[in-house]
Amino acid sequence: MHSWIKIDKNSDFSIYNLPFGIFSEADNIKRVGVAIGDEILDLYAAYELGLFKDLNFDISVLESDYLNAFIALGKAITVKVRKHIQDELCASNSILKSHPSVFIKQAAVQMHLPVKIGDYTDFYSSIEHATNIGTMFRDPDHALLPNWKHLPVGYHGRASSIVVSGKNVHRPKGQVILAPDTAPVFQASTRVDFELEMGFIIGKSTKLGASVSTAEAEDYIFGKVLFNDWSARDIQKWEYVPLGPFLAKSFASSISPWVVTLEALAPFKIDGPSQDPAVLPYLNFDGMKNYDIKLEVSIQPKNCKATVVSQSNFKYMYWNMNQQLAHHTINGCNLNVGDLMASGTISGKHPNSYGSMLELAWAGSKPVELIEGGTRKFIQDNDTVIMRGHCEKGPIRVGFGDVKSTLLETI
Ligand code: MN
Repeated sequence: MHSWIKIDKNSDFSIYNLPFGIFSEADNIKRVGVAIGDEILDLYAAYELGLFKDLNFDISVLESDYLNAFIALGKAITVKVRKHIQDELCASNSILKSHPSVFIKQAAVQMHLPVKIGDYTDFYSSIEHATNIGTMFRDPDHALLPNWKHLPVGYHGRASSIVVSGKNVHRPKGQVILAPDTAPVFQASTRVDFELEMGFIIGKSTKLGASVSTAEAEDYIFGKVLFNDWSARDIQKWEYVPLGPFLAKSFASSISPWVVTLEALAPFKIDGPSQDPAVLPYLNFDGMKNYDIKLEVSIQPKNCKATVVSQSNFKYMYWNMNQQLAHHTINGCNLNVGDLMASGTISGKHPNSYGSMLELAWAGSKPVELIEGGTRKFIQDNDTVIMRGHCEKGPIRVGFGDVKSTLLETI
């Protein structure tokens, strides 16, 4: 495919991608846009030019605070919207070409949270991450708990504190234990960490009582984003037994503004790790369900160069999204459009592919050297954490842009 729009060959937003997001200009009116190269195609304006007239949906879904109403049209419509845009951006006689005002520079707009997130679930599906955490928090000889290889472990998180890239986060306060067998003290967390994750956004609701099979799961997934699950390790270590993470996670999580569709990611499907022991039948699946998405985390102290501290890949996931969704709904729990499911920290086998500071600096015992700004065991005030992700196959590049936020001092 070749577009008449100028797109840098290293752009995440190639003609093969066309992710959806919510943007606004000086008038603060939020609209649905599609990223292409350095530009955004204003879908409301494209609709007014008649681009989607055969699809018969209401224009109001394109001038909205969130993508939910657009996504709720269903893939029968949204896949065609993306295809129409792709065709127009390649057609030499495109109506868009003669109306340059439908394009806005990405640098000139404000991006917003792409979806109104009803419910948010965080999984724990990287075997390397779960093994590392189990080794540090519990027992190296029994790092994985007995259930881990039988079901995708997860917890219900907090949706209200999920923010879009660019919104900064304050260091949380809470109860921590300073020395073994002592009473807790109340203070600002000294172990604020990132978690390199990806999230997927539910594109189709289900009725209470219904289950989604692994074969059907892709019909229910609209697309994916980068996800930084900010975590306070000192608060987590004290509070997490027996019901799992609570205040150590709910103070903030950050997501990238562009939702990359499953259709754009389809060329990058690969096989995942083999699962042993065999899973129960409802978790079985056919075909390739993992995705080869290169991921990277950088830390940038204030007024310093950024240092890449981790290079990981979404393909390392032990449990795939189809299995996560099948498990999530097997009890009849319903899904709503705009729900967010996060992968859990994505660590690889090699220490430079670990997806959190807890693992990279091994609970503070191996400080990470930065190019500028000293060493880090955890994240310091005024450090900016930047996560990027992209897929590549020959000339095809599909990327997520970034999720970037700065940790500010405690309020
Ligand atoms: Mn997490």
